Amino acid sequence: MKFSTKALHAGIEPDPSTGAIMTPIFQTSTYVQEGIGKHKGYEYARTQNPTRSVLEKNIAALENGKFGLCFASGMAATDTILRTLRPNDEIIACDDMYGGTYRIMTKVFELWGIKVHFVDMQKPENIASYINPNTKLVWVETPTNPLLNLIDIAEIAKITKKHNILLCVDNTFATPYLQNPLDLGADIVMHSMTKYLGGHSDVVMGAVITSNEELYKNLAFIQNSCGAIPSPNDCFLMLRGIKTLAVRMDRHGENGKKIAEYLKSHPKVDKVYWIGLETHPNHHIALKQMRGFGGMVSFTFKGDDMQQAIKTMESFNIFSLGESLGGVESLCTHPATMTHASIPKEQREARGLKDTLIRLSVGIEDAEDLLEDLAQAIG
Ligand SMILES: *Cc1c(COP(=O)(O)O)cnc(C)c1O
Repeated sequence: MKFSTKALHAGIEPDPSTGAIMTPIFQTSTYVQEGIGKHKGYEYARTQNPTRSVLEKNIAALENGKFGLCFASGMAATDTILRTLRPNDEIIACDDMYGGTYRIMTKVFELWGIKVHFVDMQKPENIASYINPNTKLVWVETPTNPLLNLIDIAEIAKITKKHNILLCVDNTFATPYLQNPLDLGADIVMHSMTKYLGGHSDVVMGAVITSNEELYKNLAFIQNSCGAIPSPNDCFLMLRGIKTLAVRMDRHGENGKKIAEYLKSHPKVDKVYWIGLETHPNHHIALKQMRGFGGMVSFTFKGDDMQQAIKTMESFNIFSLGESLGGVESLCTHPATMTHASIPKEQREARGLKDTLIRLSVGIEDAEDLLEDLAQAIG
């Protein structure tokens, strides 16, 4: 089965008791058992829920993995992965990643004796010197936020496999429609389903996908023990969102291309970051491991006047100012004062994140309207 067919059908059967074509919302906390130890595979809803099971089969299929688990949020998924580690274990993580992932690693897990090394993985060989017998996990996020840097997953996987270290990829930005890390050698895929998978800015949820049965069992055990499960209602909304992932991603990508090209030709704009541009320094990695380029576009203004960025953002009529991404409606953020404000200015600038940078999550509106909005807002 190909991707769009899988999105609609993998793991999804009409309800056997009624024929309902849509997966029912099994809003129940427990299941009546026929006798002691005699049940239909469902005992208590923290452990299993039929709406969630369908979603987990579906997301596993989309990532070409054997097992899927869904969580109350992306961070709950990450938390569960990190709980498989023990004191003195070490993580090698990419140095340009989602702020919440950086926070949970440094502010939560380091207190439990886990050591984290942050490494620029744009050169995969950089990780080699951090590997030692305590290294248990390599954490990659690609593309990254907001500079859309790319990491070569297959090259990292060659190194982790050689040293028997688990490789986890946060695939939130790419989605399984554009990139499948397990096929490139990763052991674990993590998603914030809150973003493109849900796609309608109405659900917070996370997922973990793996083909490693032992690891899956451990993750399921931790999830059941700690309780970070999504509600059946949210699982239904997520299943509904995923049905249109392919068509949404196509439109996000088409609009992203038009906007990136427009910005590139604008006299007031300095740099444009979109992974589909041939001038993107890692465009060749996108061609190698992705099937499209998506709708995340960042750009900076010429000069150093932050007011130019702020004025633009406040003048938008269609792009809404807000954190998050991946919804059908276009959003814009100002990383320097919003998502990345906690990083000191010098460190931000050293990484290339200027105060004049605006990040766009390009939605699926008509491109003409988005271009018009950009033109009037930039002025
Ligand atoms: C949003 C996000 C997360 C965290 O997910 P939540 O669903 O907000 O908990 C993790 N990684 C990336 C890349 C994200 O964008």
